[in-house]
Amino acid sequence: MTNHAAGSIPDAANTLVSENGYYGAYGGSFIPEILVPAFAEISRHFEEIRHDGDFWQRYCALLANYSGRPTPLTYADRLTAHFDRAKIYIKREDLNHTGAHKLNNALGQALLAKRMGKTRIIAETGAGQHGVATATVAAKLGLSATIYMGREDMERQYANVFWMKRLGAEVVGVDYGSQTLKDAINETLRDWVSSFETTHYVLGTASGAHPFPAIVAFFQSIIGVETKDQILQAAGRLPDRVYACVGGGSNALGVFQAFFPHDEVGLVGVEAGGQGRDSSNHAARIAYGEGKPGVAQGYRTMFLQNSDGQMKDTYSIAAGLDYVGVSPILADLSEKGRVRFAAATDAEVVEALQLVMKTEGLIPALESTHAFAGAFQDIAESSKSDIFIINMSGRGDKDIFNIAEGLQDEEWKGFIKRKNSQFEDQSR
Ligand SMILES: *Cc1c(COP(=O)(O)O)cnc(C)c1O
Repeated sequence: MTNHAAGSIPDAANTLVSENGYYGAYGGSFIPEILVPAFAEISRHFEEIRHDGDFWQRYCALLANYSGRPTPLTYADRLTAHFDRAKIYIKREDLNHTGAHKLNNALGQALLAKRMGKTRIIAETGAGQHGVATATVAAKLGLSATIYMGREDMERQYANVFWMKRLGAEVVGVDYGSQTLKDAINETLRDWVSSFETTHYVLGTASGAHPFPAIVAFFQSIIGVETKDQILQAAGRLPDRVYACVGGGSNALGVFQAFFPHDEVGLVGVEAGGQGRDSSNHAARIAYGEGKPGVAQGYRTMFLQNSDGQMKDTYSIAAGLDYVGVSPILADLSEKGRVRFAAATDAEVVEALQLVMKTEGLIPALESTHAFAGAFQDIAESSKSDIFIINMSGRGDKDIFNIAEGLQDEEWKGFIKRKNSQFEDQSR
């Protein structure tokens, strides 16, 4: 690893800050009047920290000593041999504390919150992964935390609710609307309107009103900074392609941005193809060409919406990709042709997952498995001298319920039934 000199911030961390908050036609800041001072305060502090080498060093030291960074770049020799085409390397964000890239952002924003003198952080969460990361850093840095989560999502992801509470956070269920992520976002903003003097909103992905996309991309840039050093070390040259799954866009931007100056490196974002292009059950806003520009949740991007501009319901086997919008930065990079979008269906993901488990002994999260499946779609056309990097955004053991269901594992079903009847016996 290159040892970045004390006081310096890698160039890659600072590529995505927009002066006016727009990325081409996307981005902006459509916020209630009352939150203007809160956004101004964050913008001012963000402007300071992104030039403050000491802050960056503190951030990196905490990541190193608490979260286990740098995460390795693993050469997937058996997977490579399976296809007998491009060499495959895997960036191991699954080894980050709490099992995914989400901690990078939560930790960075919690440090930012402390610098602004805040004592409390709040967050929205869909699947619960960002909520767990936020509750974790709140505990570590001595902040109080409130996490908003749709009631429906709480039911689907109860294990994460359990951990958030045990980590000391307050979890507030949102009972209106579809009781999912978008309602949790609204409720977090409602809290913030009356609490921003003491409270920072730790937004979970590279979306939302300016400057959040830039802030999240800044903190996630550590992934690409490490990856670029590591591939140069391992292979002596830059990769031909980098693949990442895209929910809101944070792990993708995190790994992509170090490669932006190198046009020869192809960047591929893989969305949730769900039950396929012809079903309406997917979350492929860009790859299936169905997203349309619109303004919602404080920013302008490509949203999946019907002809009246109503947000569509999205679907994915991977809860973290089940989102109706996408980072405005990625919407712009797609339009400019710098990032190509693909989609992987649930069926492709389940197949890719089994291959990765059996050849590499790795269990990628269902989200991350979309990046693998996207790479596998292209690999037949690659040559043996090519290099593919796949960003494994998180680990899959959290997905045991969904994976077992996806694989229709009868023994697991029996286990759940037995557990269930044990509980019933005890409560009788
Ligand atoms: C949340 C999550 C994602 C999706 O979020 P992005 O902001 O698009 O990165 C992807 N992978 C994992 C493991 C996640 O937990």
